[in-house]
Amino acid sequence: MPENLEHVKCLIIGSGPAGYTAAIYASRADLKPVMYTGMLAGGQLTQTTDVENFPGYPEGIMGPEMMEDFRRQAERLGTDIRFGYVSSVDFSSLPHKVVVDDIKTILADTVIISTGASAKWLGLESEQKYSGFGVSACAVCDGFFFKGQDVAIVGAGDTAAEEATYLAKLCNKVYMIVRRDEFRASKAMVHRVLNTPNIEILYNTETKEILGDGHSVNAVKVINNKTNEERNLDVTGFFVAIGHQPNTEIFKGWIDMDETGYIITKPGSTQTNIEGVFCCGDAQDHIYRQAVTAAGTGCMAAIDAERYLAAKEHVVTA
Ligand code: NDP
Repeated sequence: MPENLEHVKCLIIGSGPAGYTAAIYASRADLKPVMYTGMLAGGQLTQTTDVENFPGYPEGIMGPEMMEDFRRQAERLGTDIRFGYVSSVDFSSLPHKVVVDDIKTILADTVIISTGASAKWLGLESEQKYSGFGVSACAVCDGFFFKGQDVAIVGAGDTAAEEATYLAKLCNKVYMIVRRDEFRASKAMVHRVLNTPNIEILYNTETKEILGDGHSVNAVKVINNKTNEERNLDVTGFFVAIGHQPNTEIFKGWIDMDETGYIITKPGSTQTNIEGVFCCGDAQDHIYRQAVTAAGTGCMAAIDAERYLAAKEHVVTA
C-alpha cells in the first residue's frame, strides 16, 4: 500500500473526552484504533481551568491535566494517537475514506466521530484574556466557583435562560445581558427566568468589555444600545451563553444533521445514517454537553463499532 494510504479497523476523529473514551474501549476490544486529534488536541477542556465535576478526581483537576490523563490512558492501552486534521471524508462506499491534512487517505472499516462543539464567543479581547479566570462558556461547569457572588450572563436563548436560573441558585445576583428587547428562549424558560427574583434582565444591552485586575474579573462594562448609556456591573463571573457550533462541517452532505449541524444518531445508540460511522460527544449532543456524558457516549461508540465489526465478520465467515 502506498505511504499516503493506510487501512485501519477503527478511526477516531477528535480527542476530547468522547474520543479518548472511545479510544480506551476500542483499544481494549482489539480494534487497534487510530486517532487523529484535530487542531485542539484534548478538545474544549484544554481551555478551561478547574474541573470539579468529573467523577474520580476528589480534589478536582485542571482541564488540560485531565485531558493528559485521558491521553495517557488511551495510549497505554494501544491507541495510535496522531496530531492531524481531517480535511474531507467520502462515505460513499466501504471502507470509508478519510483524508487527513489533505495528503493522507485512511481507509477505515469503522469511523467514530468525536469532533465536539465549540462555544461561540463575543469576540472581545478582554473575554479571551479572562477566559478560565472569571469568563466561562459553561455555567454548569464553573458556576460553583462563584457561589454567593454576583455574576453576569450574556445570551437570550434556552441555554442562557437555563444557565441563568442555574446560576441564580448558587449566586447572590445574576445579571442577564440581552441584546434585543426580547428573548429567543421558549416561553417556559423565559417564565422561569422572569420568576427568579435574583435575576435582573438588562434588555437592549451589549457587552463592551470585561474588566479585571489582570488575574480575575471584577466588573463588566455594558451599553444600552437604545440610549447609549454605559454602566459597569460589579461582577466576578461572566458567562457567555450565545450558542455552540458543532464541529461537523466536513461531514455535511454525508451524515444526517439537524439544522444547527448536530449529528443525528439513532436513539439509544451512536449509529449515524451511514453504516460503520458512529458519533459521540458534543458533536451529537446539544443538551447535556458535559465531559462525563461525552465520555459515556464515547464508550457507547466503541462498543457499537466493535459489535458492528463482529456482526460483519460473522456474516462473512458464516
Ligand atoms: P440560540 O442560538 O438558541 O440562542 C443564542 C442566543 O444568544 C440568542 O438569544 C442570541 O440573540 C444571543 N446572541 C448570539 N450572538 C450574540 C452576541 N454576539 N451578543 C449577544 N447575544 C448574542 O442558542 P442556545 O445555545 O440557547 O440554544 C441552542 C439550541 O439548543 C436551541 O434550539 C435551543 O432551543 C436548544 N436548547 C434547548 C434546551 C432545553 O430544551 N432545555 C436547553 C438549551 C438549549 P438574538 O436572540 O438576539 O439572536
